[in-house]
Amino acid sequence: MSTEAPRHAGGPLLYPFAAGPAHGTVTPVAPGVHWLRMPLPFRLDHINLWLLEDGDGWTIIDTGLATGPAREVWAAVLAGPMRGRPVRRLLVTHFHPDHFGLAAWLMERCGCELWMAAAEHAIAVVVLADDAGSHAARQAFFRRHGLDRERLELTDTWRGSYRDGVPEVPSQFVALRDQQVLRIGGHDWRVITATGHSPDHVTLHCQALGLLISGDQILPQITPHIGVWHTAPEADPVRGYLHSLARFEDLPPATLVLPAHGLPFTGLAPRLEAVAAHHARRLEIVANACTAPSTATGVLDVLFRRRLDVHQIVFALGETIAHLNYLCADGALARSSDAAGVQRYTRT
Ligand SMILES: [Zn+2]
Repeated sequence: MSTEAPRHAGGPLLYPFAAGPAHGTVTPVAPGVHWLRMPLPFRLDHINLWLLEDGDGWTIIDTGLATGPAREVWAAVLAGPMRGRPVRRLLVTHFHPDHFGLAAWLMERCGCELWMAAAEHAIAVVVLADDAGSHAARQAFFRRHGLDRERLELTDTWRGSYRDGVPEVPSQFVALRDQQVLRIGGHDWRVITATGHSPDHVTLHCQALGLLISGDQILPQITPHIGVWHTAPEADPVRGYLHSLARFEDLPPATLVLPAHGLPFTGLAPRLEAVAAHHARRLEIVANACTAPSTATGVLDVLFRRRLDVHQIVFALGETIAHLNYLCADGALARSSDAAGVQRYTRT
């Protein structure tokens, strides 16, 4: 008989909740920890937010996108299940619009503080400031990566404005740092930061409650987007992401993971393994696609064989370049530019 503690051993994840709370209602997931969902106007139609009882007030984790329906849900929840306790603190896991969009609005409405990692606040300021000027630079970046005329015309119509989702970045915040311990509602929550999906993504682990608020860093059924953008074309976020996975390996096997999308789950270790294996497979496909010199667009068409809409093209190309950059940094691929400035990758 094995003396090992029971573990998931790569098996399916376990989901203790069959479904998320209906919009405007909350579901308790642990003593003092409540689950709230916000609508998103995308194929990924929701984000999970977490409401933590914190003394006589609340600490809330993430905000939802700056849309009318999200504001309506907040109004209903603040006047309903959250009534009677003031919101003292808004903690934001990372700068993406669905997590951060309503930060300024909530601070104004609730008089709460904003807590986030300094690098996440800094990138939000840069991206918001760059919003108007980034279009031409992004198109040039796509052209350099071999995007054909038809798809360039499509991406030319794509605005993907950060400002639409995040109208305002609050100028004041309390900086969170890795391994910092926050006392929330009588429990210690340890900050574990991770990179790859965003620069310094905050996750929160509570040993006593056996919970990990994982944001987008670790998701149960999808892998978070890991992309390279025109603003930092040489970035290697896949490496950062894979390194970051190790930071969660030693958490107890029974940890209930509270992700920003999908359902809470146990089975952190097998999920980390599955995600690492996914990227290893992707890297292999990308390397094989460059046996003969190929542009990033050529590799994109191998990785994603279905027809992509314009939003998917933008994100999938960024993801493809991220994997190419990883292999270039490792010396597995070499990059060259032709007279027109178009970049090609070849196996070394
Ligand atoms: Zn995100």
